[in-house]
Amino acid sequence: MSQEELRDLVNQTKKQLEHLKALGVEGIQVSTATAPSIAAPPPPTAPAPVASEPVTSLFGDLAPAPVKLTKSSETFEQIHAEIGDCTRCPLHLERTHVVHTEGNRKARLMFVGEAPGADEDAQARPFVGRAGQLLTKIIEAIGMKREEVLIGNVNRCRPPGNRAPMPDEASTCKPFLLREIAVVQPEVIVVLGNTAMKNLLDTREGITRLRGNFQDYKGIKVMPTFHPAYLLRDPSKKRETWEDLKKVRDYLDSHRSSDR
Ligand code: SF4
Repeated sequence: MSQEELRDLVNQTKKQLEHLKALGVEGIQVSTATAPSIAAPPPPTAPAPVASEPVTSLFGDLAPAPVKLTKSSETFEQIHAEIGDCTRCPLHLERTHVVHTEGNRKARLMFVGEAPGADEDAQARPFVGRAGQLLTKIIEAIGMKREEVLIGNVNRCRPPGNRAPMPDEASTCKPFLLREIAVVQPEVIVVLGNTAMKNLLDTREGITRLRGNFQDYKGIKVMPTFHPAYLLRDPSKKRETWEDLKKVRDYLDSHRSSDR
């Protein structure tokens, strides 16, 4: 096989794997007997989940074991260095800065949005525009300071015209966020808005249906709620958001024994 044919084959395989990943497939079996040895740069990888012992359910059936996230010993600096001047997805074309997750790296609470906007792109910091100022008020409303929590996005580069990131763009960038989550292991993640929720939780359900109810990401409580930018457009949704955040505050208050 020529070098060009080999490169085409690798590119097609990568596209197919990204597509499967966007559909929720977490792994495929590969026969090592037939797999060719191809020296390609490693794609970003998500932290490996650990399955606990199988659970015996009613009538003795074996239920699938819940998947738990293992604590990672990576540092944010290592992850950010690996991201570098990233060109892994088309969103790099019009960005000014890569916007990394920021805040307390021992946070009990994390907020995740979909992608940076214009202010964030200019300042290289997440949630610093008008929506970010509202997020700061939301954090303070539950008795916390912005510096206490962790704040990031599924995608780190601003989509043109603030459009929502495409599924393949999200699936390319998301492993870096998941690695940061594995480093910090927050007790609760508040996921902001429909796109971020779908991309983080790999769900097709909408935010209107899931908001206000704790979901699970590998043993971490996830509370979907509205994005602050949406609240700026429709302030009537602030009441529901406040109800969602009160549940988060009550959960954290009732689990104060955490050693952080
Ligand atoms: S959005 Fe993420 S994957 Fe895409 S170019 Fe930016 S850092 Fe890289």
